Amino acid sequence: MAFTFTNSYLQGVYENVCKKNSHEPEYLQAVGEVLESLQPVVEQRPKLAKCGVIDRIVEPERSLLFRISWVDDQGQVQVNRGYRVQFNTAIGPSKGGLRFHPSVNLSIIKFLGFEQIFKNSLTGLPMGGGKGGADFDPKGKSDNEVMRFCQSFMTELQRHIGPDTDVPAGDIGVGAREIGYLFGQYKRLRNEFTGVLTGKGLTYGGSLARTEATGYGLCYFADEMLKAAGKSFQGQDVVISGSGNVAIYANQKATQLGGRVVAMSDSNGYIYDPNGIDYKVMQEIKEVKRARISTYLEYVPGAKYVEGCRGIWTVPCGIALPCATQNELDLEGAQALVKNGCFAVAEGANMPSTPEAVACFQEHKLLFAPAKASNAGGVATSGLEMSQNSMRLSWTFEEVDEKLHGIMRNIYHNAAKAAEEYGMPGNLVAGANIAGFMKVADAMIWQGVSY
Ligand code: NDP
Repeated sequence: MAFTFTNSYLQGVYENVCKKNSHEPEYLQAVGEVLESLQPVVEQRPKLAKCGVIDRIVEPERSLLFRISWVDDQGQVQVNRGYRVQFNTAIGPSKGGLRFHPSVNLSIIKFLGFEQIFKNSLTGLPMGGGKGGADFDPKGKSDNEVMRFCQSFMTELQRHIGPDTDVPAGDIGVGAREIGYLFGQYKRLRNEFTGVLTGKGLTYGGSLARTEATGYGLCYFADEMLKAAGKSFQGQDVVISGSGNVAIYANQKATQLGGRVVAMSDSNGYIYDPNGIDYKVMQEIKEVKRARISTYLEYVPGAKYVEGCRGIWTVPCGIALPCATQNELDLEGAQALVKNGCFAVAEGANMPSTPEAVACFQEHKLLFAPAKASNAGGVATSGLEMSQNSMRLSWTFEEVDEKLHGIMRNIYHNAAKAAEEYGMPGNLVAGANIAGFMKVADAMIWQGVSY
């Protein structure tokens, strides 16, 4: 994919990143998109080049790669690879989720960690950027296998993290169950009960509304973007890809805001239900039974199941919320959405739209909310969980939800304002990158370079 640079400093940095990380396509995609939109900022502020801010921000502060060996239910030794990238701690301890999925590799963890720097900055909370995970597939594993894997993973990770150093959370394949096992092992090994992980259960330091936060936050952001254009969720058909944590609670909030969620997916296929998919049914299928989405037909026999998840973008809708994984929405999917009258896309997953899909949305003047702004509600609420842990108290669901709503509104307005200030009104991709970058860049300059 080609990014266009008119600024020679940025072009040079990007070429260097490509040279050094030539086998990391997702990472190069994430860096290219951010650097491209920072051009007007770098032109106006020569100090950024003088202080080498961009050269530094594209290199993780620390990347850890480690072996995780564990024993399966048959007594066989299994070996997986673990990762933790502490990307940038200029504005706070590194913060970002753990992903357990067979596709996990260094490129994916670095792209996610890089995005996290700007996302965390946008929340207004003091959190740096990081990410981690393993190429472990929790699907089809027994609870005991998942527990043994998590314990082995934490046995190594515990020496690199801490409540003031690096605070991991969940992501794909890491939910309440995995966080519980990871926390238990950290506590055992370190003999301390601290807020070292977020997304914890409510009985041991978790925050109310954390489970719902990314999906709710996505809809709060989308609602703000729609309002600014004189539109709303009211009466609109909504398509949501994925059926995990983000997708389920995006469904609940989009429905509360007056939309009707007509399609959802998993990695095998998608369901179409013109009467609207009840998020509670999806909760039972995915969170309780851990079953495939095709099971939905047992609950709603009139619905339709289609094999293959990419076809979901051919379902007509006004609003699309991609909430599954990176690069799940390509040019073909974007063209199908445009053709069928979709007018707004808000990203719940990280980098779900390919650059070609984003260009298509921009060309056809769709309202487009980029992930690092629109899915920041999860990490924002993790930040609120950290505050509650430090204060040793708990806020009510309503208190947390209200703070989350305020944060998402602010993110929208800050991104929209930055886009306007730098001559790209309505371009929330550029606005989010610029608004997130400014604070981190200033902190990096203030903190100097070590000799
Ligand atoms: P979950 O594991 O709960 O759900 C992931 C969903 O995406 C599942 O429905 C899964 O289907 C589907 N999926 C995963 N990989 C693929 C693939 N290669 N192709 C198609 N579908 C796929 O994860 P989350 O809901 O937590 O995360 C979803 C996205 O949101 C990720 O991009 C994550 O980084 C991002 N995100 C999550 C946050 C959170 O708070 N949880 C915060 C911010 C961003 P299947 O079950 O078949 O694998």
